[in-house]
Amino acid sequence: YQGLAGRSTKEVLQLYAAHGQQMTFQRSSVVTQLHGEIKKRLKQDLKSLHSFALQLSKDFQRQSKTCLYQVLAAVQGIQLQNEAMQMFQIKAFDLEQSLQEVTERYEKEKQKRKALHNSLIELRGNIRVHCRIRPLLPFDDAAGHSQDRQRNFSEKVAYAADDETVLVKCSRPGHASVNKTFQFERVYNDLESQDAVFADVAPLLTSLLDGYNVCIMAYGQTGSGKTYTMLGPQLEGNLAFAIEEESELGIIPRATQEVFRLISEKPPGSYWVEVSVVEVYNNEIFDLLAKDSCGRVFGVKRDVVTTREGKSDVPLLTHETVENASEFLHLVNKGLQLRVTHPTLVHAHSSRSHLVVTLTITTVVFGDNFGTLWEDEQTSQRLNKEASFTFPQKIRDNKSTSSSRASSPVQIEATEKMKQVKTRLQLVDLAGSECVGMSGVTGAALRETSFINRSLSALADVLGAIAEQRAHVPYRNSKLTHLLQDSVGGDAKLLVMLCISPGQKYLTESMQSLGFGTRARQVQRGQVKKKNFPVTSKGK
Ligand code: ADP
Ligand code: MG
Repeated sequence: YQGLAGRSTKEVLQLYAAHGQQMTFQRSSVVTQLHGEIKKRLKQDLKSLHSFALQLSKDFQRQSKTCLYQVLAAVQGIQLQNEAMQMFQIKAFDLEQSLQEVTERYEKEKQKRKALHNSLIELRGNIRVHCRIRPLLPFDDAAGHSQDRQRNFSEKVAYAADDETVLVKCSRPGHASVNKTFQFERVYNDLESQDAVFADVAPLLTSLLDGYNVCIMAYGQTGSGKTYTMLGPQLEGNLAFAIEEESELGIIPRATQEVFRLISEKPPGSYWVEVSVVEVYNNEIFDLLAKDSCGRVFGVKRDVVTTREGKSDVPLLTHETVENASEFLHLVNKGLQLRVTHPTLVHAHSSRSHLVVTLTITTVVFGDNFGTLWEDEQTSQRLNKEASFTFPQKIRDNKSTSSSRASSPVQIEATEKMKQVKTRLQLVDLAGSECVGMSGVTGAALRETSFINRSLSALADVLGAIAEQRAHVPYRNSKLTHLLQDSVGGDAKLLVMLCISPGQKYLTESMQSLGFGTRARQVQRGQVKKKNFPVTSKGK
């Protein structure tokens, strides 16, 4: 049994071993099969992965190439732009430099222009006389002197022979007619427009902004066209004038437009304009812009005085600041409605007073620049002396508000250095210069006429004294000349516009006006001769 058991155990062990072998054999064949399968799949995957990677790298290469091109192009563009920018910078620098040069040259030229303009005006005469002959008008036909009925009063006797000569046919009953001629700087015939008249006035306004006082006055008998020339046609039954008729506007509205146009070419805020309108009636001055407490306009009597600096001044006179020509026109029109008039036989709306419209132009300059504003030494010195250190209302207001805000010392110093210079443009529509007999007035109107005659002869005396360069010029002999003092004498520019009615009926008056103009003109001749020509010169 032991043997049997041993053999059996052996057999069992053998069987076990065989079984184990069998099992191992079986297992290894499955594994090989699986392994093969896996290997095959893996190979496939690897292959596809490889081709994918290849494709990817190809794509990447392609894309990076295009990007590179783009970057290169951009870099090139930037380089080009940089170059262009540099060119522009150089150009801008050059332009800046030449602008500076041009500005400097412009400043010099501007000063030269001012000096030349002034010499031109002075050559033409600081006092010049123009003469305007109005057309014959329907009212010229009205009956004249009763003792002279046989003569044709509406016959034209005054003509513009050329643009510097007036020709007057003087005929007296029983005498052969004589032609008399008068020479003036400019003579306007009856067809010449308001435009043409103003064209010769405009250069004076350039002088005004250059720092000279200017006066333009119309002289002549009632009905000769003074108001028409200075203001324009009057509205029906109204003392105001027609603002709507642009082409018919006279010197006063046109001059104001021109002043504002000239100012608009200057730096903003450096100029401002104030207006006063006064009437000199019976040697009294009336402020036509003074208002009562209700704001209604009414004339208030004022006086003219001489200041410590020797200038004429009207204390308390109303000065209205105006910003443009139309504001000015409305203001003047309002003032005009108050003008005292008295109908005489000559013309229903004859004005028996002198109308003086004054535009005061204030220029603000800084202390340091002051000398350079006026190139010609004389003007510069004169204005430096005159320059007032008091601040105009506008600047005072600004100053007080800025100092209350504790402004910097620099700011205050800048304001302290500011000076203001005032120049004046006086536009005068004189009262009729006719003799009493002609107008046929008596009583109060006679008194008016005698005041008018006295003030006009005071004006003639003043011009005469200037002509003879007398030390004393009798400005104070009448309120009119006292008021006009600063814009008549010295280096102020005066233009007398003689207005002439052409009819035979007005011959005496016309001759008187032409005589006044001729005498005033000698002022200019005397001055120019003395200034520019040697005494021995035989030149005209
Ligand atoms: P004055 O003011 O000298 O008394 P006006 O200016 O009132 O004279 O003129 C008298 C009249 O003559 C007015 O009706 C005016 O319109 C007219 N008149 C004056 N000058 C001219 C002119 N150059 N052309 C046309 N009409 C004129
Ligand atoms: Mg008039």
